[in-house]
Amino acid sequence: MATTSTSSRTSVSGISSEVETLRIKRVLSSKLYFEVPLSKVPLIYSSSYDIAFFGIEKLHPFDSSKWGRICQFLIKDGVLEKKWIVEPLEASKDDLLVVHSESYLKSLKSSLEVSIIMEVPPVALLPNCVVQQKALYPFRKQVGGTILAAKLAKERGWAINVGGGFHHCCAEKGGGFCAYADISICIHFAFIQLNISRVMIIDLDAHQGNGHERDFSKDGRVFILDVYNPEIYPYDLEARKYIDQKVEVVTGTTTDVYLERLDKALEVAGSMFDPELVVYNAGTDILDGDPLGRLKISPDGVVSRDEKVFRFAKDKKIPLVMVTSGGYMKSSARVIADSIVNLRRKDLINLEIPQ
Ligand SMILES: [Zn+2]
Repeated sequence: MATTSTSSRTSVSGISSEVETLRIKRVLSSKLYFEVPLSKVPLIYSSSYDIAFFGIEKLHPFDSSKWGRICQFLIKDGVLEKKWIVEPLEASKDDLLVVHSESYLKSLKSSLEVSIIMEVPPVALLPNCVVQQKALYPFRKQVGGTILAAKLAKERGWAINVGGGFHHCCAEKGGGFCAYADISICIHFAFIQLNISRVMIIDLDAHQGNGHERDFSKDGRVFILDVYNPEIYPYDLEARKYIDQKVEVVTGTTTDVYLERLDKALEVAGSMFDPELVVYNAGTDILDGDPLGRLKISPDGVVSRDEKVFRFAKDKKIPLVMVTSGGYMKSSARVIADSIVNLRRKDLINLEIPQ
């Protein structure tokens, strides 16, 4: 005879009702969704995003002040004023528990564990309070930014978190410089607070987005389009099963081939799924010369790529959240700023403040 218990009862999304009830409670009591006045543009950044670690951050092939430099370029280019930028709140423990387990968050109290996630071995030698302040706090601010971006996107049509995009982290495991699953948390907030029930993740970072793929493996509300190089980290074959639309671009793929495959992929994705929110993971490690991504996309190619994704969402009137994700060269910040300037020029985003 079949038996039922509360813990085995599952909703349409495959989540037990107890877990979902707790999640709803946490999301509804969060402070991360605050009212943003019209004197601000939906561009989210905090100076605390940038990581300065007594110089040891240089051991990871990562421009750890990329986020601040993007904003500096935009201000210098005359398209942005500092006072227009939205400063997010830090994601609290309760916010992180919307997706993460207590045991995973507890594991981050070990500097060794964080050093493995960040791929910076000397971090293991630092007292955990220093690791918290210098690395995990900046990451938690970026998580707060990604979450707030969905609310702003719903209100304004689009939002860019100048940081975030930690797509290798899932509920139970970090890795590849990603300590918190900001994309997954952002989407759960949108489900509960924004009355959204269908989300498309467009992950165009060079690496496979195994974190969100694992988190939404059984969740039909999320459609994942992932364009990635299968020959590099994370080689997560299990997570690949959860990609709805997989486009593999091998080492050395050039700009023309990449953009042509993206055009087709967007067309197919648009015919397969009708999202109410797009989360665009816009890693710039597809750039030619990137030692980790190993693709050969030109800076202009990255600008065209972003334009295609924004046009895809705008044509269908779907709110879009962009996060900047990977992109490890000094040139990445300039390319991202150029891309934002291009989006403005093409009228795909509006950076004007109403007078
Ligand atoms: Zn990447």
